[in-house]
Order: sequence, then structure tokens, then C-alpha cells
Amino acid sequence: MFSDFKKLPLHFKILVGIIIGIMWGIFSVALHWPEEITLHYIKPFGEIFIRLLKMVAVPLVMVSLVLGIISVQDIRSLSRIGGKTIGMYLFTTVIAISLGLLLVNIIKPGKNVDPGTLTQVEKVNESDEALKEKKDTAHKQQEAMKKDGPLQTLVDIVPENVFSAFSNNSSMLQVVFFAMLMGVAMVMLPSQTIQPIQTFFNAFNEVLIKIIHIIMYFSPFGAFALIASVIVEIKSFDLLYAVLAYTGTVLFGLLLLIFVVYPAFFMSIAKINYKKFFLAIREAHILAFSTRSSSATLPVTMEKAENNLGVSKEVSGFVLPLGATINMDGTSLYQAVAAVFIAQVYGQGLDFSEQLMILLTALLASIGTAGVPSAGIVMLVIVLSSAGIPEAGLALIYAPDQILDMFRTVVNVTGDVTVATSVAASEGHLNEPMENIE
Ligand code: ASP
Repeated sequence: MFSDFKKLPLHFKILVGIIIGIMWGIFSVALHWPEEITLHYIKPFGEIFIRLLKMVAVPLVMVSLVLGIISVQDIRSLSRIGGKTIGMYLFTTVIAISLGLLLVNIIKPGKNVDPGTLTQVEKVNESDEALKEKKDTAHKQQEAMKKDGPLQTLVDIVPENVFSAFSNNSSMLQVVFFAMLMGVAMVMLPSQTIQPIQTFFNAFNEVLIKIIHIIMYFSPFGAFALIASVIVEIKSFDLLYAVLAYTGTVLFGLLLLIFVVYPAFFMSIAKINYKKFFLAIREAHILAFSTRSSSATLPVTMEKAENNLGVSKEVSGFVLPLGATINMDGTSLYQAVAAVFIAQVYGQGLDFSEQLMILLTALLASIGTAGVPSAGIVMLVIVLSSAGIPEAGLALIYAPDQILDMFRTVVNVTGDVTVATSVAASEGHLNEPMENIE
């Protein structure tokens, strides 16, 4: 039987891992098993899995962006592809935020929250160390912004020292900046001059892909460990009920993005069949769901976009690493809904211009959000304070956040692939897929 299981496709094995993880979590909470069993002996394997994937994120973004750029070969088409990519990323993010604002204004999930529940939730969360830590991180970023002015964000994109940028996963934008500059410089030089570096990068890329395949053997177990520990950590299902309407609004918006908005793009621009698109990237979806990290999912996203959807290596190598860093549609929809929800709970009406402010800050926040677990809630603090919404409301949305993070990461990844297929199609870079996934 075990050898039969080994032969099953990877996404199926990961799914089995997730289901066993959910069952473990539910039994553990319901039967009052000591939390330590899960948190001390199972969770670490999930963390190892995420670390393994993050370990290759910086070199992968670097190598694939450079290879993606130099394969375009001339500066004019490069700036055209770059312009289209960034334009589409911004456009889809604005759609996501507007959709979130629309839904939260129609559904009004925060209208009937009882003030008693509010104080109760705030008290429970006051002592929450993890929440405190997230707030602190956001405050530090904010203070730096206040001290140095809004353009500091721009200054921070340029690394002072490229090796220190490489040594920090949260400096991914700096890595992207350096990789782009290096790619452009290589395109401008004669091909014999850059040949040795190009050969090295090609070989390095192959090695990275092999490493990722090795790591992926471990993914079903990693997914099990991650999901089991999330469920055990959430513990309080009562809080979940108190914010059910909010959770439902975010989920509904995310589902609309995935199943209605994105198909409108990939079906009309890239002419890809609805079912085929989702079958093609299901492994990336499952991985995004269990790791809650679009950066960690990047290698698989790229492989599936190339092999199963036929996106050329040139386009996928450029569009997807960039997307995993700057394009977070799911996160921005969530931030818009969460901000207005908290304002509703506190009885604070937001007029059009205040909601426009939320749109702008959520757009910037999603660009600055790293593709790692829970990054979205840190940036939400910044959205809240720039719109003058009480930060204490974070306590309300904190309980379901890890679950929502799973779904928004799936959306983030899908948004990247949608743009990749559309840009590829418009550039004549969408080939016959290598693998038939029907
Ligand atoms: N976990 C998300 C991602 O990696 C970011 C977020 O927290 O919203 O895409």
C-alpha cells in the first residue's frame, strides 16, 4: 500500500497531508491532548519545511529575474513587457481593493457587533505576545516613515550593500532591484562578454530547481505539520464566531477574485480554458494554502506556469518573481475589508475620500508586503493608522487571520499566474504546454 501511495501525484499527497493535519488539530483540541505534542514535536517540521523553501527564495528570485530579462534580449521589448506587467499588477490590485470595499460596504459585517464582545475580545488579546510583536514591527516601520518622510519607501528599494540585501528575506525588493539592473546591464553588453555569467546562471538555475524538487518530497509531511499546528494554535473557536461575518466577507471577496475576476483575464486575453487553468496550477494552490507564503510557493508556481500553461521561460522568469514580491491582490482585498470592518465596529463612518485613502494605502501596503506568513496583518496596522481607525480593533480580526492568510496567499499566487499568462499571450510567448493536464 505504501508503494502505491508513493506513486500518487504530489498534489494529492499534499492534500492527504492537509486532511490528516486538520483531523489531528481537531482531535487535539477536542480531546484536550497536551498542546506541547503538536507545538513542540510536530510544528518544528512545518517550520523546517517553510525554511527550506525560503532558503532558495533569494537565489531563485535573483537567478530567474536575470535569466528572464536577458532572454528578452532587447531593451525596447523589455521595457514593454515590464510596463505591461507592472500596469496589470497595479490594475488587478486596484480591482481587488475596490471589490473588498464594495463588499464590506454592502454586507456591513461590523454593524451589529455587541460592545460587550468587543471588550471581551480585546481583553483576551491584550496579553497575546504574537499580536503585540506584529504591532511593534508595524510601529517601527511607521516611525521610520514618519521620521524620514514618505519617499523613504523609495529610498529603501535601493540596497546600500547588495550582500546584506541577499542575506535578508524581507529585503526582497532590494534583490529585485539589483537583479533587474544586472539583467538590463547584461542586455546592453555584447553577448560574448556576458557568456560566462549566463552559462553560470543557467547551470545555477538547474541546480536550484533540483533542490526544490528534493524539498518537495517533504511537502506532504510539511503541509500536515503546518496545518495541525495552526489549528492547535487558534484554540478559541468562540472568537471565530464573533467575527464570522467579517471572515465570510473576506472569503467571499477572495472567491470572487479567483473564480470570476481572474478568469475574465485569462480566458479573454490568454484564451485559456477555465478548468484547464485551475488544474494546471493546483499544486501551487495547495502549496500556497499550506505554507501561507507566496515566496515559498514561487518555484512551483513558475514550474506549473511554464510546463502546464505554456508560459515561456522568459515571461515566467520575469513576471512571477516580481509578482511574488509586489503583487498581493488577496492581501489588499483583505486589508480593505478588515479596515472598514473595524471602523464599522467602532461606529466610525468612513466617507468616500477616507475610503479612497484606504485604497491608496492598501495598494502601497500590498506592494510592501513580503510574501511570507502573516505579513498582511503587519501592513494592515499601517493602513489602519493612516485612515485613523483604532488599532485596538486588530484584536477582533486576529483569531481567523491564519486561516484567511491561507486563502489570500492562494489568491496572491493566482493573480501572479493570471498576469503571467496574459502578458505572455500578448507578447506571443504562450506556447503549447509541455504537459497535458486534462
Ligand atoms: N501570506 C501572504 C503571502 O505570502 C501575505 C499575507 O500575509 O497576506 O502571499
